[in-house]
Amino acid sequence: MTRIHNDPDRFVDEALEGLVLAHPGRLRRVDGGVVRDPAAARGHAAVVIGGGSGHYPAFAGLVGPGVATAAVCGNIFTSPSSAAAMRVARAAETGGGVLFSYGNYAGDVLHFGEAERRLRAEGMDVRTVLVTDDVASAPADQAQKRRGIAGDLCVFRIAGAAAERGDDLDEVERLARKANDRTRSLGVGFAGCTLPGADSELFTVPDGMMSVGLGIHGEPGIRDVPLQSASRLARTLVEPLLAERPAGAGERVCAIVNGLGAVKYEELFVLFRDIAGELSAAGLEIVAPVCGELVTSLDMAGVSLTLLWLDDELEQLWTAPADAPAFVRRGPLRESAGAAPEPRDEETAAVADAASAVPASERSQRHAREAARLIRVAHDAVAERSGELGDLDAVAGDGDHGTGMVRGLHAALEASADTAAGAAALLVRAGDAWSDEAGGTSGALWGAALVALGEGLGDADEASPPHLAHIVDLAVGRLAALGGAEPGDKTMLDAMLPFAETLRQAVDRATALDRALDEAAAAAEHAASATAALRPRRGRSRPLAERSVGHPDPGAVSFAIIARAVADAAATGPAGAATEGTSSASAPKIALTVTHEEEERT
Ligand code: ADP
Ligand code: MG
Repeated sequence: MTRIHNDPDRFVDEALEGLVLAHPGRLRRVDGGVVRDPAAARGHAAVVIGGGSGHYPAFAGLVGPGVATAAVCGNIFTSPSSAAAMRVARAAETGGGVLFSYGNYAGDVLHFGEAERRLRAEGMDVRTVLVTDDVASAPADQAQKRRGIAGDLCVFRIAGAAAERGDDLDEVERLARKANDRTRSLGVGFAGCTLPGADSELFTVPDGMMSVGLGIHGEPGIRDVPLQSASRLARTLVEPLLAERPAGAGERVCAIVNGLGAVKYEELFVLFRDIAGELSAAGLEIVAPVCGELVTSLDMAGVSLTLLWLDDELEQLWTAPADAPAFVRRGPLRESAGAAPEPRDEETAAVADAASAVPASERSQRHAREAARLIRVAHDAVAERSGELGDLDAVAGDGDHGTGMVRGLHAALEASADTAAGAAALLVRAGDAWSDEAGGTSGALWGAALVALGEGLGDADEASPPHLAHIVDLAVGRLAALGGAEPGDKTMLDAMLPFAETLRQAVDRATALDRALDEAAAAAEHAASATAALRPRRGRSRPLAERSVGHPDPGAVSFAIIARAVADAAATGPAGAATEGTSSASAPKIALTVTHEEEERT
């Protein structure tokens, strides 16, 4: 929806005024649109584009050297008037005539057509090139009936770059027409858009579906299909465009992945990656691609793919310098994009080698299998409570602690699948994988802790209880040094330190390892619960410290969950199989205290 506006009737004018203010020294406001400022060189052809508003950066954001000379801007989704087109054209013209270029919509054709007729009558040389790139809007044998969508950019750009280098109006018109003949687009819509001041969406797409071929004002698509993965969507978009490869087209294309307004750039990049793969598999080379928002539709969720089939003269223009608010090119560029880069083999190999450099003894391999089992146990325990951990992190943090921990543990689990590895190599590898995959504060800290455990253990060592207690100390120390937190800062450390301390004391009393682990886990659970009283002085929760009071620290809780799961598993598995009678299997789960009223407190 549109949340920021004054009088909805003044929305477009106020937006244009703001755009000009936001780009000092670039644009000049004229009644009905904007003109580039300073003006184009005398005698150069003027490329005047336009259409309804609500499509930013089309059209006003595409005004500048190397793109359009001026834009005529109508109301939201409404063609500008012929009078506005005339005013803007007169302001843009410097003696070289005017090329009007805009998407093929009935209202625009009428108004711009009328403006062309009247300007000609005044003696101005005016031509028109309509953009007709949307393959979904009419069959190929009626291509002149097609509407214009993101392919606008290709045509405006080619015409603008030709005008900028001083081509005369005949030549600018020829090149713009050629660009349109070689441009094809296809879009999909996921959700509608809302006009400024309106309460409901202009159109809707059924939940879980996407509409293939949906226009940029909600014109119906060809068909509704269930949402697809990015790679499947890439094929949905690429295949129909390749099927319409223009006669005489070579192997070089410009590809534009265009967001319609409510699709995040990261999503566009994921799609671009898959599209680049498809195009490269089809033997095409992508030249100076564009991935972003170029022709939008207010806050509509949707994407389109445009291909402009280049030849030498089009490529030269496509890669020339440009400087519009929303389209800047340093030019001349020959950027190519192909399939996604693979990680370099040497790097992957180097990491693997370092991890398995020490030959593993049979004993160490046994320890490694036990470590892998405990990682699985930890993974399952955290996965089961990931939602609760997320809620806890959402109280004063960003809500990702559960998913982050599961991602890290899952990566650690996958990295510990190597049955030939020794315990040290396995833990180092698992720690690296955890930190790599999980990201976030806790990912870095847990990753470092596992690496420290591995390094402390050593592949040839005997894992005696005192030695284990010692390396747990080491790992917690490493984590504390890396994170810089002090006890009482309300972090995972507040559960880890009592765990390590209790384990060491129990082992010093010659308590059996499984008993010692059970005592240490109980201490961690107790300490994690007690963090509820603390105020966070570290990490993301610090700025919202007050909200956090009354809730335990998520990192401390996840540690306690892991400590409990590992202690229970150690009591029943190889490490503790020899000892009977631990009471921990039935120990109560650590309580989380997130309630929804409290969550809403500010
Ligand atoms: P992020 O804060 O990056 O979103 P997570 O949500 O996965 O990472 O982890 C949050 C947890 O990380 C906190 O609950 C806290 O226990 C722990 N944490 C944050 N900063 C530190 C630090 N400097 N030292 C130790 N632990 C920390
Ligand atoms: Mg977080």
